[in-house]
Amino acid sequence: MGWVKAAPDAGLLLHAEGDPAAIEALLGELGEVDSESVRVEGHEQFAIRGVPAGVFVVQEHQATAHHFDLRLEVDGVMRSWAVPKGPSMDPAVKRLAVEVEDHSVSHNDYEGPAVIVWDRGTYEQGGRVAWPAALERGHAVFVLHGEKLRGGFALQRTRDGTKPQWLLIKRRDECARPGSDVVAELPASVVSGRTLA
Ligand code: MN
Repeated sequence: MGWVKAAPDAGLLLHAEGDPAAIEALLGELGEVDSESVRVEGHEQFAIRGVPAGVFVVQEHQATAHHFDLRLEVDGVMRSWAVPKGPSMDPAVKRLAVEVEDHSVSHNDYEGPAVIVWDRGTYEQGGRVAWPAALERGHAVFVLHGEKLRGGFALQRTRDGTKPQWLLIKRRDECARPGSDVVAELPASVVSGRTLA
């Protein structure tokens, strides 16, 4: 397992995990490389350096109960969770996220009397289990590149059934903002600048 990414200055960064003999053989194939061993911390490395996966959107929705809809593009549809209190950039905060039906990608820009586009951008799929299997197993880590939400997040399923319940948690990284309340601090639509109120 591993990843390859462009280095900021020059060349490529390669991360490889596996049988030491296989790593040695790989290094031999590559020729002249600088290598170092790094500690593997669970899924953390893949949470930070994931696979570009598509777009995400968070829509604030005044329905019978006010909530935020988190939608992640997975295999051409928007997998969706209703988050009553909205996302948080504070890693100490766990937000209930109720899985709801998939939405069409074409709905991502929608705003109306009861809906604003609270945030949007692209995301990377992380974790040691490839998506969508990670979602099926109930633990998915990902990196958001939004206007408000940035850095690693995790979705952890806590209850199965017809309306599966998950927890949405900000991962501890350089983007985390302990003590913050991003929903209250940045209420405006990233599309129109208006607030739901
Ligand atoms: Mn909704």
